[in-house]
Amino acid sequence: MKPARHSVAVVVRGADGTFLVVRRPDDPDDPLAGAWGLPAITLLPGEDERDAVVRAGRAKLGVELTPGRKLGELAADRGAYLLRLSDYEATVAGGTPAVPQPGASMTQYVDCVFTADPATLAGAAARGSLCARIFLESCDGAERDRVAAFRRRAGLTRLVDVHTHFMPGRLLEAVWAYFDKAGPLVGRPWPIRYRAQEQRRLDVLRGFGVRAFTSMLYPHKPGMARSLNDWAAGFAARTPDCLHTATFFAEPGAAGDVRRAIGQGARVFKCHLQVGGFDPNDPLLDDVWGLLAEAGIPVVTHCGSGPVPGAFTGPGPVGALLARHPALRLVVAHLGMPEYPEFLDLAGRHDRVMLDTTMAFTAFAEAASPFPRAELPRLQALGDRVLLGTDYPNIPYSYPDALEALERAGFGAAWLRAVCHDNAAALFAL
Ligand SMILES: [Zn+2]
Repeated sequence: MKPARHSVAVVVRGADGTFLVVRRPDDPDDPLAGAWGLPAITLLPGEDERDAVVRAGRAKLGVELTPGRKLGELAADRGAYLLRLSDYEATVAGGTPAVPQPGASMTQYVDCVFTADPATLAGAAARGSLCARIFLESCDGAERDRVAAFRRRAGLTRLVDVHTHFMPGRLLEAVWAYFDKAGPLVGRPWPIRYRAQEQRRLDVLRGFGVRAFTSMLYPHKPGMARSLNDWAAGFAARTPDCLHTATFFAEPGAAGDVRRAIGQGARVFKCHLQVGGFDPNDPLLDDVWGLLAEAGIPVVTHCGSGPVPGAFTGPGPVGALLARHPALRLVVAHLGMPEYPEFLDLAGRHDRVMLDTTMAFTAFAEAASPFPRAELPRLQALGDRVLLGTDYPNIPYSYPDALEALERAGFGAAWLRAVCHDNAAALFAL
C-alpha cells in the first residue's frame, strides 16, 4: 500500500469578494512550478485539519487565520503517494500576509496577492492542482445557486442568451490576448472571467439554466467570414442548444457568404461595426441587408460607440441603413451603449428593431457609460423588444453579476421574464 499524504489548502478571504493567491517557486521537480494557487500545508501526524489551517497561516503567510467553512475535498494518486486534500475558507485575524516566510523545511511562496478573479487558478487546475479544482468547483456551485435564485425571483425556469461568444479556438485565444493587453478597442483592463476549454464553457452556461444561446463570431478583415461561418455551422450541428450563428464583412463576396450561411441553416447573424470598421451602408452590403430583411433573420449588431468609438459606430450609420431597409430585424447590442437615448429613438421609429442587454447596468459598464435614469421608463415600455445578452464568456465579472444588475434596474419580474426568455423564445420559435 502506498503512503498517504493529507493536506489542507486555504482560501483566505479579503475585502470585496477577493481571496489570496500565492505563486509557487520555479522548482523544476514541481509539476505546479511557477503557478498561482492557494496556500497549502501537509498535516502533521494526528493533526486536525482546522489546526493545520492555522499553522499554514503562521508558517507560510505570517498571519493569524480564523478557519471557516470547508469547501470540499478531493483525492488523487500522485505516483509516490496518495494525496487527500481539503480546501477551507479562512479570514485574517491578525497581521498582513507576506511571502516568503522563513523556514526552509517546507515550500515557501515567491509572491502573493488578493484577487477577485477565480480564473487566476485555472492554470493550476489544468495542471492537476486539487486545491484549485475544489475552489473553482465551489465558485461554480455558488454562481449556479445565484442564477437559480435569480430565476426563481423572476419566475423563470430557463433563460435564453442571444449574445454569447463561441468561435474557433485559435481565434478565441487571440480575442482573449487582445482583452488581456487592453487593446485599443477595449480601452481598459478586462480580465476574462470564463477562460476555459470549450466543453467547460458550455457546461457552465448550461448549468445556469440557459436553454438556448448563440455563437457570436465576427471577422476583423476581409476573407474570413466564410470560414468562420463554416466553423459556426459545425458548432451548431454538434451543439443542439446553440442558435446557429453566422457573420459577414463588407467585401465583394459578402452576399454570397450570407446566402451560403442561410442555406446552411443560420438563424441569427452577428455584425460588428466597431471591430469590422466598415460602413453598414457600404454598397458591397446592399444585397446582404436585402437578403436578411427578406428572410427576417435577426442581426445582432454592435453599432454603439462603446467601449471605444469606431468610424461607423453610433446611431447615424445604422439609422441610415434602417431608413433604406425598414424591414430589417436589427438587434442593437449592448442597448446601444453609450448612445442609449439615440438607439431608443431608433427603436421607437422602427418597430422591428430590438435591443440586447449585453453588459448594460453592470458596475463595470455603469462606471464608463451609465444608463440615463430618465430613460428607464422608455426601456420598460419596450419590454417586448429587449433580449437578454451577456457577452459570455468574455466578461470581466460573473454571469450572476450581469443578471442581478439587470434585476436591480427595477423593471420587475414580468419584464425580466419577457427579456430573459419569452421574447427570444418567440423570435426563434423555441
Ligand atoms: Zn459581444
